[in-house]
Amino acid sequence: MRTTTRAVVIGGGIAGCSAIYHLTCEGWNDVMLLERDELTSGTTWHSAAQVTNFGGNQTMIGLKSHSIKLYQELANDPDYPINYHHGDGGLRLASENWHLDGYKHFQSMAKGMGVEFELLNATEAARRHPLITTDGLMGALWDPMDGDIDPAQLCQALARRARKAGAEIHRHTPVTALRQLPDDTWIVTTDKGEIHAEHVVNAGGYRCNEIGEMMDVTLPVVSMEHQYFLTEPLQGIIDAGHRMPLLRCPTDDFYSRQEKEGLLVGFYEQECKTWGLDGIDPNFTMALSPDDPDRVLPVLENVFKRMPALMETGIHTIVNGPITYTPDGLPLVGRIPGKRNAWCITGLRAGLGEGGGHGWLLAQEMVHGQACYDTWCLDPRRFSQRADIPYTTAKVIEDYQNEFRFHRPHEFRPAGRDLRPSPLHETHQKQGAEFGVVNGWERPLFYKTEADFQPDHSFHFSNVDPVVEAEVQHIHNHVGIAEVNGFNRIEITGTGVMEWLDGLICGRLPKKLGKVGLGYFLTKTGDVLGEATIARLSEDRVWWGSAAAAQDHDLDWLNGQNPPEGIALTSRVESHTIILIAGPKSRQMLTKACPDQSWERTDFPWLSVKECQIAGIDATVMSVSFSGELAYEIHVAIDQSKALYAALSLAGEDFNLRPFGMFAVESMRIEKGYRHWKADLFNEFDPIESDLARFVKLDKSDCIGVTALAAKGGKKRRAFVTIKISSDFAPAHGGDSVMHEDNVIGTVTSAAYGHRVGENLAMAFVDVEHAAIGHELTLWVQGKMLPGTVVEPCRFDPENQNMRS
Ligand SMILES: Cc1cc2nc3c(=O)[nH]c(=O)nc-3n(C[C@H](O)[C@H](O)[C@H](O)COP(=O)(O)OP(=O)(O)OC[C@H]3O[C@@H](n4cnc5c(N)ncnc54)[C@H](O)[C@@H]3O)c2cc1C
Repeated sequence: MRTTTRAVVIGGGIAGCSAIYHLTCEGWNDVMLLERDELTSGTTWHSAAQVTNFGGNQTMIGLKSHSIKLYQELANDPDYPINYHHGDGGLRLASENWHLDGYKHFQSMAKGMGVEFELLNATEAARRHPLITTDGLMGALWDPMDGDIDPAQLCQALARRARKAGAEIHRHTPVTALRQLPDDTWIVTTDKGEIHAEHVVNAGGYRCNEIGEMMDVTLPVVSMEHQYFLTEPLQGIIDAGHRMPLLRCPTDDFYSRQEKEGLLVGFYEQECKTWGLDGIDPNFTMALSPDDPDRVLPVLENVFKRMPALMETGIHTIVNGPITYTPDGLPLVGRIPGKRNAWCITGLRAGLGEGGGHGWLLAQEMVHGQACYDTWCLDPRRFSQRADIPYTTAKVIEDYQNEFRFHRPHEFRPAGRDLRPSPLHETHQKQGAEFGVVNGWERPLFYKTEADFQPDHSFHFSNVDPVVEAEVQHIHNHVGIAEVNGFNRIEITGTGVMEWLDGLICGRLPKKLGKVGLGYFLTKTGDVLGEATIARLSEDRVWWGSAAAAQDHDLDWLNGQNPPEGIALTSRVESHTIILIAGPKSRQMLTKACPDQSWERTDFPWLSVKECQIAGIDATVMSVSFSGELAYEIHVAIDQSKALYAALSLAGEDFNLRPFGMFAVESMRIEKGYRHWKADLFNEFDPIESDLARFVKLDKSDCIGVTALAAKGGKKRRAFVTIKISSDFAPAHGGDSVMHEDNVIGTVTSAAYGHRVGENLAMAFVDVEHAAIGHELTLWVQGKMLPGTVVEPCRFDPENQNMRS
C-alpha cells in the first residue's frame, strides 16, 4: 500500500468508484480508494439502480447524460461487459394539470442539453406500458434513455479502469482517523498504517458523518429506510414481447421497472422512517433493515389500481435499505465547507443514475478547480451553517414524501421553516406577508390583499401577479419598505484591505471613502465566480455584500485567497439585517425620520454609504438600488431592527408608505437588467459574455482570472441578452430553451413580467449570432413557441435618472 498519494477516496460505493475513475481520467493517477469492507457493501449493492436522464436543472441533466454515455461505453467494453438495460424508456405519469405543466418545462429545459423528452397522452402511455390503466391519467413524460444497470458490475468496471490507470484500491481498509497538517495535506489513518494524502474525499455513503466526525464536520445528510418489492413473473410482461418501460408516479409515490419477467416496485411512503440517526452498527455491511411491508401498504393499494395485473402475482423478495438524502434532495459534491483539500461526494439518493456524472464533475473540480458545468446546485456550501441534523431530518422526510413531486414555481414547502425568522417576522405577518425562504431566512414574497388569499403556484401567470403589480406601482409612485434579511455581509478590516481586494476583484474598486461599488471575482479561467458590493466605510474597513446564498461560498473563497497578516474577515450576516426604502418619496420620508442627516443628492449621492443614527439607532445606509427607483439600504443590528422599522413606519405615514416583497424586487430588477447570482451569473460564462465588460479591467494582470480572460480576446461562447416575449400566454422559466427554427440557440436564466414597462421579459444566454438588439427568436414555454425579440437590457429608466434623482 502506498504511503503517500495525491488523493484518498474513502468509500467504495458508486460515489467513490466513480470519483476515483474520473480522477484518473482527469490526469491524477497517483490516487487511492479505501473501502472498509467490500466494494458496494454500503447501499450500492442492493440499489434498484434505475438510470434516468430526467433532472430538475441543466447541470443535473448534463451529469446524468454523462452517466448514461459512460455506462453505455462500459456495457459495450468487450473486455469487461456489464449488464445495462439501456433505452427501455421511462414514463413519468401525470394525473394533475400541474404535472403536465411541469413536464412541459422540463422538456424544454432538457432540449437545451441535447436531451429529447416526449409528452404523451394517456392512451399512448398505456400503449407503451401495457400493464397500466389510464384511470385518472392525463398523460406522461417519456424519457427514451431510461433504464437500469447492475450496480455491482458497474462499480467493478469503474474500479478496474481506475486500477489500470494507476489507482490503488484497498478493500477491508477502514479509515479510522483524519488529521490535517499545517500545509493543508492530510494524514489518513487505517488499520494498515498511515497515508499522507494531498486531498481526501468523503464518499462514505450513509457513514459519511462518521468520516465527517474525523475532520470535525457534520454534513447535512440523513438516511431514510427505503423499500422495494420484487414480484414473481407477470404474464403481461411475457406477452408484451418487449421490456416494460420504467414508471414513476408523483401522485401515488411509487416507481417500477422490469426485473427478469416480473417487476421491481419501490415506494415513497408518507409514514416514512429515518435510519441510523442514533448511530450505525459497525457490523451493518452488505446488510438490510428488516422487511416492513405494512409501512407501504397505502402506496401499494394505489400501485394495484394503476397496475391491476400486480394483484395476480406474488412478491418473492423485499429489500429495505438505507438511502441518503440532503435538505434539498441534491447531493453534496464539492469542497467541504471550512476545510482545505477536503471534498465530498455524499448524500446521493439516486447514486446509480447520477453517480457517473457526480464523479466526473468532482474530479474536474479537484484537478482543474472548476467543472464544465456550474455546480452550485451540488456545492456543499450552499446550505451554510444553518443545516444541522434536526433541520436536515425535517427537510429529508419532506423530500422523501415528495420524491416525484417537483417544486412548482415559487413553492416553498413547510418543513424546516422558521429556522431563521427575523425579529420583524411577526410585523410582516400582521401586514399579510406570504413568506418564502432564502438560505434559511424567512422573507416576505408579497403582501396578501385578503387574509385568505391562496397563491397559485402556476407555471402560467397567476393570481399573485396583480398583487405584485400593485406593489411595484406603489413603489414607483410613492414609497415602499421591505426587509432584506440574510443578505451576505462580510466586514473586512485591516491595513491594506483595498490593496488586497484589488487583486481579487477584476474591475475598479470605489476610489473614495464613503463610496459603494459593484465588483466581480473570477475563476482561474476567467469565468464569473461571484459578485460583491464593496462599501468603503473607512480607510481600513470595508463591507463586502452579496447574495444571501453566497454566505459560505464567499467567506470560504475569501479565506482561500490567503488574506495578508492583519486583514480580518467577520461575517455580519447573523448580526445585521437590511431595511430597504424605495420609491420617489424615500428622501422626503427619510428626512422626516432622520432630520439630522442630509439626504440631499449633493450630500448623499447615489452609490455612497454613510454611518448615521436614525431615531437614535445606529445604521449604515447605502444609497444603492436594485429596483431602479431612488432607494436606500439601511443596514441595522438585528436587535434594533424592530425599533427602526417602527420609527420608519411612523415617518412613512405621511407618505403612504407600504410594505413590499421580493417578487416586486424580482420584477423590477429584471426591468433594470440586473442579475441574480447563480441564476444569471454563473461560472459557465465570463464577464464579457455576461455583458459585464464595464466591470472588467483587462490590464489587471495580477487579479485572478483576468489574464485568462484577456487571452480569450473577447471571443464569446454565448452572449447574455434580454428578450421581450411578444405574448402574455405565460412567463418563461429559468432553463426554458430559446429556439431559432428547430434549433436550440440559448437558455433562459431568469424571467418575470416587468410591471412598470408592461413587458413579459426573460434574460438568457444565446448564441452570439442571435444576440443583436432587434433579433427575432422564439422561446419554448409551456409547450408553445412564443415569439420574442432581443431588446436593450435596461427596460426601465436606462439613464438611471430615478436612482440618481
Ligand atoms: C432500496 C433502494 C433503492 C434504490 N434505487 C435506486 C435507483 O433505482 N436508482 C438510483 O440511482 N439510486 C437508487 N438508490 C440509491 C443509490 O443506491 C445510492 O444513492 C447509492 O448506492 C449511494 O452510493 P454511495 O457510494 O454514496 O454509498 P454506499 O454505496 O453506501 O458506499 C459508501 C461506502 O463507503 C464505505 N465506507 C464508509 N465508511 C468508511 C470508512 N471509514 N473507511 C472506508 N470505507 C468506508 C462503505 O463501506 C461503503 O461501501 C436506491 C437506494 C435504496 C436503498
